Amino acid sequence: MTLKKAISGTNLEQAKSHNRRVVIEAIRTNGSLSRAAIARLTALSSQTISNIVEELEMAGVLRPQATLKGARGQPAVPYSINPDGGYSIGLQLDHQLAVGIVTDLSGTMRARVEKSVDQPTPAEAMPLLAAVAGELIASSGLDRTRLFGIGMAMPGPFGVEGMTSVGPTALPGWNDFPVAEELQRLTGIAVTVENDATAAAIGERLYGVARNLDSFVYLFIGTGLGAGLFLDGHLYKGSRHNAGEIGHIIVKPEGLPCDCGKRGCLERYVSLRAAYEKLDLPDPDHASPDLLQELLARGDSRLESWIAGAIDPLRQAIDVLELALDPETIVLGGFMPLPVIEELADRLEPLHLSVSSTRARVTPRVLVGAAGKDTSVLGAAALPIFSETNPQFDVLQKPHGR
Ligand SMILES: [Zn+2]
Repeated sequence: MTLKKAISGTNLEQAKSHNRRVVIEAIRTNGSLSRAAIARLTALSSQTISNIVEELEMAGVLRPQATLKGARGQPAVPYSINPDGGYSIGLQLDHQLAVGIVTDLSGTMRARVEKSVDQPTPAEAMPLLAAVAGELIASSGLDRTRLFGIGMAMPGPFGVEGMTSVGPTALPGWNDFPVAEELQRLTGIAVTVENDATAAAIGERLYGVARNLDSFVYLFIGTGLGAGLFLDGHLYKGSRHNAGEIGHIIVKPEGLPCDCGKRGCLERYVSLRAAYEKLDLPDPDHASPDLLQELLARGDSRLESWIAGAIDPLRQAIDVLELALDPETIVLGGFMPLPVIEELADRLEPLHLSVSSTRARVTPRVLVGAAGKDTSVLGAAALPIFSETNPQFDVLQKPHGR
């Protein structure tokens, strides 16, 4: 079910649908708002807001709260999001883990399922993911007619000859595989696919440290490394959906060889895979991020040596991102355990001089993500709701006006 269908008997044109999203997002981010308060926050007319609020209330997306007594004039009815107005499934696939969650319209997680995988091919993963979706629907007892869709996060890059599906940081056999179409066929539910770094940026924007930011970069340290770009209120995806694949920018021209064919790529130094290699593990393909956390706690010298060697490349990547994109901040996160990320963040100073070095700034140049290890899957679950309720953050609020 889409929101459009929930509003029965109407076939709303694009502009109206967009305005609806603006209203929903204003209420969602503020908790509850009266019609007058929505008018103050958005560029919409009072009449438009009244019509939209009425539609959304009838559709079960908004619900009225107890009336506030105004100082004068008519009492104002605040509206809040009805959490049970809609549900969404988030799925995340990585080398060793498949995670599925259900969130309601308020973003609260209602169910979670985790399965071990081993660098799955599409033929292995697709039935498993469909089963996870089925399990989530059954265990959460949600009203299936109110399911917005499935959002799925997985490692990029997508469809790049010689770069996708090559080497230990890419999943094998996924190049050009129609993930969304196939999962949709198996589940009968609309599917949106996004790379894990972009999904993490959405998760952090909705639930984490980037909640009030209009421009930030999310550096996703996973098996490889990628960046989610949220710029001027929009996700930036690039012309072929591969923006932010900065794991393969060269940070050491004569450095370690990379499976992409180049030398000195960033993710050869800053990634789980790079850390595992430094540890001389017998089987780095099956190492677990938890191991890094244990070794950090023990003060293991091999891990210390990896961290020391990762700081400079990471600093350089931050320099490039700041100079190229002028973000408010750069958020560090991903599958790398939080204590290890905090250790990396603590040792980044002094950062290079860049356009971000200004003293007038309020947000630190680098922040550690706060939405936790489920950041990506929460972001993935938001994809169906996000596309339905909020494609553009920047039109939501009048610039600096209240
Ligand atoms: Zn490379």
